[in-house]
Formats: sequence, structure tokens, C-alpha cells
Amino acid sequence: MNKNSSNIMALAPNTSNKRETVCIFGTGDFGRALGHKLIQSGYPVVYGSRSTQISNLIPKDAEVLGHAEAAQKAAIIIIAIQRQHYNFLTPLAEVLRGKVLVDISNNLKLNQYPESNAEYLAQLLPGSKVVKAFNTVSAWALQSGTLDASRQVFVCGDDVEAKQVVMDIVRALGLTPLDKGSLLAAQEIENYPLQLFPMWKFPIFLSFGLGAFFFIYCLVLDVIYTYIYENNNFSFFIAITIPNRVFPVMALILFALVYLPGIFAAIIQLYRGTKYRRFPDWLDKWMLCRKQLGLIALAFASLHVVFTLVTPLRAFASWRTSKRIVSQALNNQTEPLDHTNAWLSDSYLALGILGYFLFVLLGITSLPSVSNNVNWREFRFVQSKLGYLALILCTAHTMIYGGKWFLSPSAYKWYLPDIYILSLIVPCAILVVKFVLIFPCVDKPLTRIRQGWERNPKYSE
Ligand code: NAP
Repeated sequence: MNKNSSNIMALAPNTSNKRETVCIFGTGDFGRALGHKLIQSGYPVVYGSRSTQISNLIPKDAEVLGHAEAAQKAAIIIIAIQRQHYNFLTPLAEVLRGKVLVDISNNLKLNQYPESNAEYLAQLLPGSKVVKAFNTVSAWALQSGTLDASRQVFVCGDDVEAKQVVMDIVRALGLTPLDKGSLLAAQEIENYPLQLFPMWKFPIFLSFGLGAFFFIYCLVLDVIYTYIYENNNFSFFIAITIPNRVFPVMALILFALVYLPGIFAAIIQLYRGTKYRRFPDWLDKWMLCRKQLGLIALAFASLHVVFTLVTPLRAFASWRTSKRIVSQALNNQTEPLDHTNAWLSDSYLALGILGYFLFVLLGITSLPSVSNNVNWREFRFVQSKLGYLALILCTAHTMIYGGKWFLSPSAYKWYLPDIYILSLIVPCAILVVKFVLIFPCVDKPLTRIRQGWERNPKYSE
């Protein structure tokens, strides 16, 4: 078949049901998996390979030819070969002229090369139309049909028609193409499969760091101190008591850290008198991972709920209750109901339940399927107004739990404050500053700045 006629065939609108032949260079894992899927979707497939011997692994209806011969049979060639072998394509430049080359390659490291693999391919073969696609889909997912999590295929390229042809193939395979623009986007698309939870890194490291610190802090005060000064071995606290002290503290601090960058942003904007200057990098990054911080905080709060519910089942709890009852019986005493205590414990529980309920609501509205169904104002109402209400309830829950006990000298073992006191520092500071920020004399200029007003405009009319 004439090479030019095959180009025209592929790029012209498809009027018949017959699909155009697709050529795949490379009979490796990805080449075979994609070939299999293309044949299933009705595309004739021809492989370009160093060896034309047919093996059992190659899809049954596919042809295997030498590279030049295979390329002549199709207008679209998928390069299922690692970048380091692209040099072998240079002698094929004439055969590949005018054809659509689909670069599917990935690298082993982020920004491994100065230019993306797709741009490198375009430099090697300037006469071809290079399109980047399929690199975020794994061979295993293609072959096993488990594509639910990776249905989206990022596509980019400088030739609009060529990109359209590739996107049509993507659709025909039952996947969703997402046009990312010109070939300049290829580097970002190639980095995508190498990223490991980019938005979760900081929240996870912070949680581990803070969690380890508070765990050791409690271990020292609740187990080591008690062992040294009271000769009591409470090492079993490691299983439930200490985690159930650390979880709520972590939940409250991380939850407060979701709102702290907003406070910093407001102070910076008020100070600068404009919203048109970029925030420092650290603040931008912090703002971007607020959802992740909130979800980790919610996970800690949920663990706190479960650990608290199992407390009555613990041997230590029933031993302590029976010890108190027996001692009252032996001393022929009855303890009258302390109404203040009853009020405090009921309010503490009620605040905790309400705070947790709102916290779960915030978590649910942050799910894409839910947030896509509310408008911006509704989303802000839940995340900001109800979020602050949840923070107030959770802070009050912790304060009432501590109550007068925070002020007692016995709460300061080795002159160290209890972790509940430490956990209140950030949320209380945020709530105080937020209270100041909602005063009309502060809120009005801030709202104007956020609407575009500048104290010292750079470009005056
Ligand atoms: P592979 O199994 O190692 O296959 C690579 C193929 O390249 C070989 O089977 C061989 O085919 C050809 N080849 C090897 N050395 C060559 C050379 N010196 N000159 C010419 N051709 C050569 O690799 P793969 O997993 O299929 O990956 C292929 C490309 O797809 C890579 O760029 C990878 O980043 C990308 N990718 C892979 C996956 C995946 O899940 N595997 C997912 C997304 C993207 P012949 O023997 O037929 O010549």
C-alpha cells in the first residue's frame, strides 16, 4: 500500500464501520496488551518487530513484520519501546514521514531527561506527527480489563488532527481521552505515573512526626513517670489508653491546621493591601493539601470514637469500677451524685458527638462525587462556616474534658503539661484570630481586598 494513501485514509473522517490498521512497534508487554485490546475493538493490528517470528504471546489475528514494512501498512504507529532505543527509528524517517507516532513511554525517575520522551521523538523525526498518549494506562490493566481506576487517558500533541485520530482510538477502546494541549504538556504527563501521592506526602509525614512525638510524650508521663514515682506498672497503656489519648489530640491539631493557612492568608492580604501578590510557596503548598490534612484528622477522630466505645470492655476499666464500689461498701459510704460533674460529662459527650457529626459531614462534602453536585457558595458554607463550627465544638469538647484538672498541679508531671493542654494551643489561637477577623473593621477591608480593591494600586487608571 502506498504510504501517503494510508495517511489520508486515517486522517479522513471514518465513514464506514471498518477500522483503520494500527501499527505497533515492539512486541513487549505493553505492545501485546494494547494490540489485544485494539483487535477486540475491531482494529486490524500489525506489529513492527526486530523478529518476525510469531510467538504464542502475540494476539492471534495480528501480523508481525519488520519495522519498515509494518509502518507502511498504517498511518498510526504506536511506539511501544523504551526511549533509550528510539535511535533505531532515525533510519526509518522517510517511511514514517507524515505518519502519526504515538509515544506511550514512561521514565524511571521524575524529569529524568531535559526534554520529554515525546519531544525527543519529535526532534528525532521532525517529519512525523508525534502524539503523547496511553502512558498512564498499565499493560496489566489493559489485559485484565480492570481499567476502572485508570479510564482517563491524557493526550497531547502539536498536530490537532493527529491528536483527534488518537483520541478516537482511545474512545473506541472504551477509555476517556483528556486533551492536555500541545506537546509541551508531555513532561507533566510523563511525570504523572511516577508521582506517589503528591498531595498526601506533607500531611502523612506531619502526622507520623506529630503522632510519634505525642506517643512518646504520653509514654513518658503515663507509664515511665508512674513506674518511677508510684511503682505502678501501667505498660499495658500502650495498647489502648495512650493511642486513645494521641488520636483525639492528633485529630484536633490536624483539623486546626486545615484552617491555619486561611488565617495566614488573610493576615498577609491585610498587611499587603492587595490580593494580587503571590503567597509564599510554603503557604501555597499548605493550602493545596488542606483536604488531605482534614481527611487524616477525620481518620484519627474516627479511631478515637472506636477506641472510646470499647473502653467499658477493658479489664482495667471493670477493675477500677469494682474497686471503687468495694471500697465504698467496706467504708459504708455512698457517693452522692455530683451534679456539676454530671453536667460536665454530658456536655463533653454531646459536644464530641456533634463535633464528630459535622466533621463527617465535611469529609463527605470533600468527596468529588458530592462536591461536584453543590455550587461554590454551598461548598464554602459547609467547608468554612460549618468547618469553623466543628472546630469550636471539638475544641470545647477537649476543654471541658480537661476542665479544672488542667489547672491542677498534678497535671504537670515533671513540669510538663498534659497533651490535652498542648493540643489546645493551635485551635484556640486560630479561633481567637478568626474572632478578630470577623469584626467589621477588619472584615470589611479584607472583603474589599478579596473583591479586587488595592491599597496602593500598581496600575492606576
Ligand atoms: P518491554 O516488555 O521491555 O518491551 C519493549 C519492546 O521494545 C521489546 O519487546 C522489543 O520488541 C522492543 N525493543 C527492545 N529493545 C529494542 C531495541 N534496541 N531496538 C528496537 N526495539 C527494541 O517493555 P513494555 O513494558 O512493553 O514497555 C514499552 C514502553 O511502554 C515503555 O516505554 C514503557 O515506558 C511504556 N509503558 C509501559 C507500561 C506497562 O505497563 N508495561 C505502561 C505504560 C507505558 P521487539 O522484540 O518486538 O522488537
